[in-house]
Amino acid sequence: MKTNRINSTLKRAALYTRVSTEEQAQRGLSLDAQRERLIQYAKENDLVIVDLYIDEGISARKRYTKRPEFIRMLDDIKAQKIDVVLFIKLDRWFRNIADYYEVQSILDKNNVQWIATEEDYDTTTANGRLALNIKLAIAQDESDRTSERIKFVFSNMVKEGRVISGKTPLGYEIRDKKAVVNEDEANIVRDLFQKYIDLRSMKATSRYILNKYGKSIDTKSMKHILQNKWYIGEAYGIENWCPVIIDKNTFDIVSAIINVRSARHDGSRSDRVYLFTGLVFCSSCDRRMTTYTCHNKNKDGTVKQTFVYYRCPAHTMHLCDMSKQFNQDKLEEWLSDNLLSEIEKINLSFQSRKALSPPKHIDTSKIYAKIEKLKDLYINDLLPKEMYEKEYTALMASLKDAENEKKEPMRDPIDLEQFNDFHISYRDLTPIAKKAFWSRTLNKIYLSENGEISITFN
Ligand SMILES: [Zn+2]
Repeated sequence: MKTNRINSTLKRAALYTRVSTEEQAQRGLSLDAQRERLIQYAKENDLVIVDLYIDEGISARKRYTKRPEFIRMLDDIKAQKIDVVLFIKLDRWFRNIADYYEVQSILDKNNVQWIATEEDYDTTTANGRLALNIKLAIAQDESDRTSERIKFVFSNMVKEGRVISGKTPLGYEIRDKKAVVNEDEANIVRDLFQKYIDLRSMKATSRYILNKYGKSIDTKSMKHILQNKWYIGEAYGIENWCPVIIDKNTFDIVSAIINVRSARHDGSRSDRVYLFTGLVFCSSCDRRMTTYTCHNKNKDGTVKQTFVYYRCPAHTMHLCDMSKQFNQDKLEEWLSDNLLSEIEKINLSFQSRKALSPPKHIDTSKIYAKIEKLKDLYINDLLPKEMYEKEYTALMASLKDAENEKKEPMRDPIDLEQFNDFHISYRDLTPIAKKAFWSRTLNKIYLSENGEISITFN
């Protein structure tokens, strides 16, 4: 085990970021937030950034062998390109103790340290290692344990009906550490719930309350009130905890209205599908592009429209000059419009390549042997320089042919038949089915600075 402290000599750092699909919307955990923090840390500590490794849409429970960028990083570690790995918190790294130790042994073997920039670990002492073990054990099932712990600490106080902390909701006041109804405020709350059912708009309800009671409640607080279970007597997961202000039926109707409205206005959040995750690559640097979302909001703060963009993760770190960002809707439109013609194009090129140069299956080892022999002859003055150069150029050319063939092997044309009803059926697919269609059909989508899109097929 190594210490996490850094010496002053320049070290080469790999930045590792990971986010699961559910975490994507969470504050401070977005890939951008993680990256910004890591870049800052690297700057402050005089580290040279080697590369950024981004596992997007990957949960912590996924074994490291199933994380593409993690694997790429391990390859770079084994190739001695990295001295230190940065991530913000241990839970970005692993929630699985077995994986942790497996990877740690690879790091140890290659003399690589890791640093959790937002947490402090010292693995040089027995106590430090114990703390790390405990942390890992907790992280392995963090959410469960956290809520268990909170329940345990508070359960006695809660059982006694005592208010624990935080603000008392409108309509209640605290007497002898217990919540009781404040009738004046409770009347406003009852009116507010009823009005929302009539108007179905938080903004309009808020205006109504302001006019009638002179009380200003913004839409965010309004939503809080309309969803606060105190009003049906429930708090800390315990029923009949405090006096009821709103009957259960009214509360449920309001919840249903909020759900329907937010589902309609907000096509984003958890059900927003990133159609091309993993498929999109930057044509300047060959890195996998990452997504980010942009919300267009109404005046009352609800989301009107959500846009998904793809961009090169290396750009902000000045590792790549690709600054263009691609809108997912436009990308989808282009792909739908051009899919069939792209397949035709590719089929044509296969045919012409086949006609021009049938596969040669060149044996590169033979060419290398010939080059060596040629060099021998030349060095021993058995071959004039002009002849050597001519032969050498010819051999290098056939080497290049062989390499090209390896890169782009001959393949059968793509069967266009299977895409016959594409234009009719694609529209009706669910987002998840669309995503599945693209990842089944396409191998890579390359995007370039000038807006060009090029695709390769599976
Ligand atoms: Zn790039």
